Amino acid sequence: RAGVTVIPVVVHVVHRTPEQNISDAQIAGQIEVLNRDYRMLNPDISKVPEVWQSLTADCRIEFALATEDPFGAPTDGITRTETASDLFRTDDGIKFAASGGHDAWPADRYLNLWVAPRIEDPDPTLGEILGYAQFPGGPPETDGVVIGHRFFGTTGTAQAPFDLGRTATHEVGHWLNLFHIWGDDGQGCSGTDFVADTPNAGGPNFGTPTFPHVTCNNAPDGDMFVNYMDYTDDIAMFMFTQGQAARIDATLEGARSSFLK
Ligand code: ZN
Ligand code: CA
Repeated sequence: RAGVTVIPVVVHVVHRTPEQNISDAQIAGQIEVLNRDYRMLNPDISKVPEVWQSLTADCRIEFALATEDPFGAPTDGITRTETASDLFRTDDGIKFAASGGHDAWPADRYLNLWVAPRIEDPDPTLGEILGYAQFPGGPPETDGVVIGHRFFGTTGTAQAPFDLGRTATHEVGHWLNLFHIWGDDGQGCSGTDFVADTPNAGGPNFGTPTFPHVTCNNAPDGDMFVNYMDYTDDIAMFMFTQGQAARIDATLEGARSSFLK
Protein backbone atom coordinates (compact mmCIF):
# COMPACT_ATOMS: atom_id res chain seq x y z
CA ARG A 1 0.00 0.00 0.00
CA ALA A 2 1.43 3.32 -1.05
CA GLY A 3 0.73 6.73 0.47
CA VAL A 4 -2.05 7.65 2.86
CA THR A 5 -5.45 5.93 2.86
CA VAL A 6 -8.45 8.11 3.70
CA ILE A 7 -11.32 6.27 5.41
CA PRO A 8 -14.78 7.89 5.15
CA VAL A 9 -16.49 7.75 8.55
CA VAL A 10 -20.14 7.89 9.53
CA VAL A 11 -20.94 8.52 13.19
CA HIS A 12 -24.33 7.21 14.31
CA VAL A 13 -25.28 8.99 17.54
CA VAL A 14 -27.94 6.95 19.36
CA HIS A 15 -29.36 8.77 22.36
CA ARG A 16 -32.19 8.66 24.89
CA THR A 17 -31.37 11.97 26.61
CA PRO A 18 -30.27 15.32 25.12
CA GLU A 19 -26.93 14.96 26.95
CA GLN A 20 -26.23 11.70 25.13
CA ASN A 21 -26.88 13.46 21.84
CA ILE A 22 -23.27 14.66 21.73
CA SER A 23 -22.31 17.76 19.79
CA ASP A 24 -20.77 18.01 16.34
CA ALA A 25 -17.72 19.50 18.11
CA GLN A 26 -17.26 16.43 20.33
CA ILE A 27 -17.39 14.27 17.20
CA ALA A 28 -14.93 16.52 15.33
CA GLY A 29 -12.55 16.25 18.28
CA GLN A 30 -12.65 12.47 18.09
CA ILE A 31 -11.88 12.47 14.36
CA GLU A 32 -8.95 14.79 15.08
CA VAL A 33 -7.52 12.33 17.64
CA LEU A 34 -7.81 9.45 15.17
CA ASN A 35 -5.99 11.53 12.57
CA ARG A 36 -3.19 12.37 14.98
CA ASP A 37 -2.77 8.84 16.35
CA TYR A 38 -2.83 7.01 13.00
CA ARG A 39 -0.35 9.49 11.46
CA MET A 40 1.93 9.49 14.53
CA LEU A 41 1.23 13.20 14.93
CA ASN A 42 0.11 12.83 18.55
CA PRO A 43 2.30 15.12 20.70
CA ASP A 44 2.58 12.48 23.46
CA ILE A 45 4.56 10.19 21.11
CA SER A 46 7.52 11.88 22.81
CA LYS A 47 6.68 9.96 26.00
CA VAL A 48 7.50 6.56 24.43
CA PRO A 49 10.33 4.98 26.43
CA GLU A 50 13.59 5.29 24.53
CA VAL A 51 13.94 1.53 24.01
CA TRP A 52 10.81 1.51 21.81
CA GLN A 53 11.25 4.80 19.97
CA SER A 54 12.64 3.07 16.86
CA LEU A 55 9.49 0.93 16.68
CA THR A 56 6.93 3.75 16.59
CA ALA A 57 4.90 3.87 13.37
CA ASP A 58 2.95 6.22 11.16
CA CYS A 59 0.06 3.98 10.03
CA ARG A 60 -0.68 6.25 7.04
CA ILE A 61 -4.43 6.34 7.57
CA GLU A 62 -6.62 9.41 7.81
CA PHE A 63 -10.28 9.61 8.77
CA ALA A 64 -12.82 12.01 7.32
CA LEU A 65 -16.51 12.40 8.15
CA ALA A 66 -18.40 11.28 5.07
CA THR A 67 -19.51 14.03 2.70
CA GLU A 68 -21.74 11.75 0.60
CA ASP A 69 -24.39 9.43 2.01
CA PRO A 70 -24.99 5.93 0.58
CA PHE A 71 -27.37 7.39 -2.02
CA GLY A 72 -24.93 10.10 -3.16
CA ALA A 73 -26.62 12.96 -1.33
CA PRO A 74 -24.58 15.49 0.68
CA THR A 75 -24.17 14.68 4.38
CA ASP A 76 -22.21 15.86 7.40
CA GLY A 77 -21.33 12.22 8.15
CA ILE A 78 -23.43 12.16 11.32
CA THR A 79 -26.79 10.46 11.93
CA ARG A 80 -28.83 11.14 15.07
CA THR A 81 -31.38 8.69 16.42
CA GLU A 82 -33.55 9.05 19.51
CA THR A 83 -34.05 5.75 21.28
CA ALA A 84 -36.09 4.39 24.21
CA SER A 85 -33.36 2.70 26.21
CA ASP A 86 -30.07 3.79 27.77
CA LEU A 87 -28.69 0.30 27.69
CA PHE A 88 -27.14 -1.53 24.79
CA ARG A 89 -25.21 -4.78 24.90
CA THR A 90 -22.54 -6.34 22.75
CA ASP A 91 -25.33 -8.17 20.88
CA ASP A 92 -25.26 -5.42 18.18
CA GLY A 93 -28.80 -4.15 18.87
CA ILE A 94 -27.52 -0.60 18.36
CA LYS A 95 -26.66 -1.47 14.75
CA PHE A 96 -30.29 -1.90 13.66
CA ALA A 97 -33.15 0.59 13.54
CA ALA A 98 -35.47 -2.31 14.35
CA SER A 99 -33.86 -2.67 17.80
CA GLY A 100 -33.63 1.02 18.70
CA GLY A 101 -30.38 1.83 16.91
CA HIS A 102 -29.37 2.86 13.40
CA ASP A 103 -28.58 0.61 10.44
CA ALA A 104 -25.00 0.51 9.18
CA TRP A 105 -24.03 2.34 6.05
CA PRO A 106 -22.33 0.06 3.45
CA ALA A 107 -19.30 -1.32 5.28
CA ASP A 108 -17.15 -1.51 2.16
CA ARG A 109 -17.34 2.30 1.79
CA TYR A 110 -17.67 3.64 5.34
CA LEU A 111 -16.25 3.04 8.78
CA ASN A 112 -19.44 2.94 10.91
CA LEU A 113 -18.93 4.41 14.40
CA TRP A 114 -21.93 4.10 16.73
CA VAL A 115 -22.00 6.33 19.82
CA ALA A 116 -24.04 4.64 22.56
CA PRO A 117 -25.74 5.86 25.74
CA ARG A 118 -24.19 2.92 27.57
CA ILE A 119 -22.81 -0.53 26.62
CA GLU A 120 -22.77 -3.54 28.91
CA ASP A 121 -21.02 -6.85 28.57
CA PRO A 122 -23.34 -9.89 28.62
CA ASP A 123 -21.30 -11.05 31.64
CA PRO A 124 -22.94 -9.05 34.47
CA THR A 125 -19.74 -9.09 36.55
CA LEU A 126 -18.03 -7.03 33.83
CA GLY A 127 -20.68 -4.30 33.71
CA GLU A 128 -20.16 -1.25 31.52
CA ILE A 129 -17.55 -1.40 28.77
CA LEU A 130 -15.96 1.47 26.89
CA GLY A 131 -16.53 0.07 23.45
CA TYR A 132 -16.24 -2.89 21.13
CA ALA A 133 -15.34 -3.54 17.50
CA GLN A 134 -15.96 -6.05 14.75
CA PHE A 135 -12.83 -7.54 13.17
CA PRO A 136 -12.47 -7.72 9.36
CA GLY A 137 -14.33 -10.54 7.64
CA GLY A 138 -17.60 -10.38 9.58
CA PRO A 139 -21.12 -9.58 8.35
CA PRO A 140 -21.35 -6.11 6.75
CA GLU A 141 -24.59 -5.31 8.61
CA THR A 142 -22.74 -5.26 11.93
CA ASP A 143 -19.33 -4.01 10.77
CA GLY A 144 -17.78 -1.12 12.66
CA VAL A 145 -17.14 0.16 16.16
CA VAL A 146 -19.43 0.99 19.11
CA ILE A 147 -18.31 3.43 21.84
CA GLY A 148 -20.08 4.88 24.89
CA HIS A 149 -20.51 8.67 24.60
CA ARG A 150 -18.54 9.28 27.81
CA PHE A 151 -15.49 7.65 26.19
CA PHE A 152 -15.79 9.41 22.84
CA GLY A 153 -13.84 12.53 21.87
CA THR A 154 -12.12 14.93 24.23
CA THR A 155 -14.82 17.49 25.10
CA GLY A 156 -18.53 17.62 26.00
CA THR A 157 -19.56 14.45 27.81
CA ALA A 158 -16.13 12.76 27.62
CA GLN A 159 -15.02 11.68 31.08
CA ALA A 160 -11.54 11.14 32.56
CA PRO A 161 -9.56 8.90 32.42
CA PHE A 162 -11.04 7.99 29.02
CA ASP A 163 -11.44 11.51 27.63
CA LEU A 164 -8.54 11.68 25.20
CA GLY A 165 -10.23 9.79 22.36
CA ARG A 166 -8.09 6.67 22.70
CA THR A 167 -11.02 4.27 22.97
CA ALA A 168 -11.69 4.93 19.29
CA THR A 169 -7.99 4.60 18.44
CA HIS A 170 -7.99 1.19 20.18
CA GLU A 171 -11.30 -0.05 18.71
CA VAL A 172 -10.43 1.06 15.18
CA GLY A 173 -7.20 -0.92 15.70
CA HIS A 174 -9.39 -4.02 16.16
CA TRP A 175 -11.44 -3.04 13.09
CA LEU A 176 -8.12 -3.07 11.22
CA ASN A 177 -7.38 -6.56 12.63
CA LEU A 178 -5.04 -5.70 15.52
CA PHE A 179 -5.31 -7.91 18.60
CA HIS A 180 -4.52 -7.00 22.20
CA ILE A 181 -0.77 -7.03 22.81
CA TRP A 182 -0.98 -9.57 25.65
CA GLY A 183 -2.42 -12.15 23.25
CA ASP A 184 -5.86 -12.53 24.88
CA ASP A 185 -4.93 -15.61 26.93
CA GLY A 186 -5.75 -14.19 30.35
CA GLN A 187 -2.56 -13.86 32.39
CA GLY A 188 -0.75 -16.62 30.44
CA CYS A 189 2.38 -16.27 28.34
CA SER A 190 1.29 -18.40 25.38
CA GLY A 191 -1.11 -16.00 23.65
CA THR A 192 0.05 -13.88 20.72
CA ASP A 193 -1.05 -10.80 18.84
CA PHE A 194 0.75 -12.11 15.71
CA VAL A 195 3.01 -9.05 15.76
CA ALA A 196 6.72 -9.69 16.20
CA ASP A 197 7.80 -6.33 17.65
CA THR A 198 5.28 -6.12 20.51
CA PRO A 199 6.84 -7.93 23.49
CA ASN A 200 5.09 -11.07 24.72
CA ALA A 201 3.12 -9.91 27.77
CA GLY A 202 1.19 -11.60 30.58
CA GLY A 203 -2.13 -9.83 30.87
CA PRO A 204 -3.57 -6.39 30.24
CA ASN A 205 -2.18 -3.33 32.00
CA PHE A 206 -4.53 -0.76 33.53
CA GLY A 207 -4.25 2.82 34.74
CA THR A 208 -0.90 4.56 34.29
CA PRO A 209 1.83 1.95 34.86
CA THR A 210 5.46 2.75 35.59
CA PHE A 211 8.15 1.57 33.16
CA PRO A 212 9.24 -1.22 33.16
CA HIS A 213 6.53 -3.76 33.98
CA VAL A 214 8.15 -7.16 33.47
CA THR A 215 6.08 -10.31 32.76
CA CYS A 216 6.58 -13.43 30.59
CA ASN A 217 10.41 -13.25 30.54
CA ASN A 218 10.24 -9.88 28.76
CA ALA A 219 12.92 -8.21 30.93
CA PRO A 220 14.49 -5.69 30.88
CA ASP A 221 11.95 -3.56 28.98
CA GLY A 222 8.80 -5.47 29.94
CA ASP A 223 5.26 -5.02 28.62
CA MET A 224 4.71 -2.34 25.99
CA PHE A 225 1.87 -0.81 28.05
CA VAL A 226 2.21 2.47 26.13
CA ASN A 227 0.71 0.70 23.10
CA TYR A 228 -2.84 1.62 21.98
CA MET A 229 -3.74 -2.08 22.03
CA ASP A 230 -3.21 -2.46 25.80
CA TYR A 231 -5.87 -1.47 28.42
CA THR A 232 -4.14 1.50 30.07
CA ASP A 233 -5.77 4.93 30.57
CA ASP A 234 -6.02 7.26 27.57
CA ILE A 235 -3.16 9.39 28.88
CA ALA A 236 -0.85 6.37 29.12
CA MET A 237 -1.18 4.96 25.57
CA PHE A 238 0.43 6.67 22.60
CA MET A 239 1.98 4.33 20.01
CA PHE A 240 1.50 1.66 17.36
CA THR A 241 4.54 -0.36 16.27
CA GLN A 242 5.98 -0.96 12.80
CA GLY A 243 4.76 -4.55 13.08
CA GLN A 244 1.23 -3.39 13.85
CA ALA A 245 1.39 -0.95 10.91
CA ALA A 246 2.43 -3.86 8.65
CA ARG A 247 -0.56 -5.86 9.89
CA ILE A 248 -2.82 -2.90 9.10
CA ASP A 249 -1.26 -2.78 5.60
CA ALA A 250 -2.18 -6.44 5.13
CA THR A 251 -5.77 -5.68 6.17
CA LEU A 252 -6.05 -2.75 3.75
CA GLU A 253 -4.60 -4.88 0.97
CA GLY A 254 -6.88 -7.79 1.92
CA ALA A 255 -10.19 -7.85 3.76
CA ARG A 256 -10.61 -4.05 3.66
CA SER A 257 -9.15 -3.35 0.22
CA SER A 258 -12.39 -1.61 -0.82
CA PHE A 259 -10.99 1.47 0.97
CA LEU A 260 -7.93 1.70 -1.31
CA LYS A 261 -8.34 4.16 -4.14
ZN1 ZN B 1 -9.76 -4.16 22.78
CA1 CA C 1 3.60 -10.12 20.31
